[in-house]
Amino acid sequence: MPEITCPKCSRKFNVEISQERILLARKNPLRTAAILIPHEDHEAIVFVDAEGHVVRVEWSSAPAKGIVNSLLEVPVPASKAPEPKNLDTLEWLILAMCDGRRSLQEICEALGITLGTGRLVVERLRSRGYIEKVITKLRVS
Ligand SMILES: [Zn+2]
Repeated sequence: MPEITCPKCSRKFNVEISQERILLARKNPLRTAAILIPHEDHEAIVFVDAEGHVVRVEWSSAPAKGIVNSLLEVPVPASKAPEPKNLDTLEWLILAMCDGRRSLQEICEALGITLGTGRLVVERLRSRGYIEKVITKLRVS
């Protein structure tokens, strides 16, 4: 388990990288998966590659909870995507967080961006072949 220093609170912590997470990373065009770790008033976002190495650490304000009965949009990364290049930071972060389960709403909350911005970026990623589709499902609370 790699030891990581939180970029927000400097607390050191270990992150357990499950086999499932590694499988999700393999299916992502960036060969990356994101793990959200709650810290007191914020979250650490740890990005790991398909070998289980930590490639990046970000942090976010703790997401606002309590939205009910809204539709969730879940971006599904393309399994046969072209080699990702010329991605800007936001495109990279969003694509790395797409695992076919995490909703765009959760991704936007974690990255501190609006849903509108997230949708625009996802549409860009989709038109370039990195995201296969966006499925819609009802939030279960
Ligand atoms: Zn922290």
